[in-house]
Amino acid sequence: MPKPFHNRVLAWFDRHGRKNLPWQRDTSPYRVWVSEIMLQQTQVKTVIPYFERFTQAFPDVRALARASEDEVLHHWTGLGYYARARNLHRAAQMVVAEYDSEFPADLEGLEALPGVGRSTAGAILSIAFGQRASILDGNVKRVLARYHRVAGWPGQSAVHKQLWEIAEQYTPRRRCADYTQAMMDLGATLCTRSRPACDLCPLQQDCAAHAAGDPQAYPGKKPKKALPVRATHFLVARNAAGDVWLEKRPGSGIWGGLWCFPELAAAQDCSARCLDLWGVEPHSVDAWEAFRHTFSHYHLDITPVVAQVNNPGGGVMEASGQLWYNLRDAPSVGLAAPVVTLLNRLK
Ligand code: SF4
Repeated sequence: MPKPFHNRVLAWFDRHGRKNLPWQRDTSPYRVWVSEIMLQQTQVKTVIPYFERFTQAFPDVRALARASEDEVLHHWTGLGYYARARNLHRAAQMVVAEYDSEFPADLEGLEALPGVGRSTAGAILSIAFGQRASILDGNVKRVLARYHRVAGWPGQSAVHKQLWEIAEQYTPRRRCADYTQAMMDLGATLCTRSRPACDLCPLQQDCAAHAAGDPQAYPGKKPKKALPVRATHFLVARNAAGDVWLEKRPGSGIWGGLWCFPELAAAQDCSARCLDLWGVEPHSVDAWEAFRHTFSHYHLDITPVVAQVNNPGGGVMEASGQLWYNLRDAPSVGLAAPVVTLLNRLK
């Protein structure tokens, strides 16, 4: 008879698990929460430098709550899924205002915070508070779906429910923090998406997918839909000093709260927009080749329209939601990913 599931997972963790991740030092609910939000949809090695910089800039929940949205988004630039950063900021303000800066230590309280779902709440409870609580992130779903050969896409509610039941069933009372980390590590390092290292896995002996020789078939994939394609033009305006015009996007919608180039319906609208913004026609206009940015629900083909505007009238301030962005001495604002790409090209 194989040993109980959690004993094997914990024994493997003791020998091979990750124990020096930055959020495993000075563990606190705040640090675990920030790391868990960053780790949603993002790999550990990508998260580490962001986590270090973020927690240096905002060492505790009060500092994060006090910060401006621009500062928060600035430290998130490049990490993607910016709703996570906006939710993090709102949740910090809630923890300060409603919980006297102490994170709630129960599932209900944590799940009431913006951006915190059941799995993230479970991770905070187990890792930061030492409570028995289950998680079901992407890595854990993969391990459990394979171990039990659970068919179907985990986005379907019946499959999701079944995986939660399995996750709950295996979660131990003792060493729950280590078990949580162990399951994440097992999924990330052994039971990987395309090449699971079953020979090294502590669950191999009774893993159903390994026995059937088809781990890659689990978990089931999301039914594919062809993504629609949309198109837009970015007005990339530069002044005589080489600064670039950016505008802050509204708080909701794509790139919410981030700084971006103004959008144009067509390249021909460039002169009219320059007149509108600065009272002058552009000195020169050059349409660059379009490039594609893909969101989860559509492709966006972006054509940069690069305009030289030598004597723009009117002063602007960051507070007004418009600024001339200095490429050498960049202000602390959050930037949409295609904006970062284009600014690098302009440099
Ligand atoms: S035996 Fe293979 S498929 Fe099964 S849990 Fe381990 S790594 Fe994943």
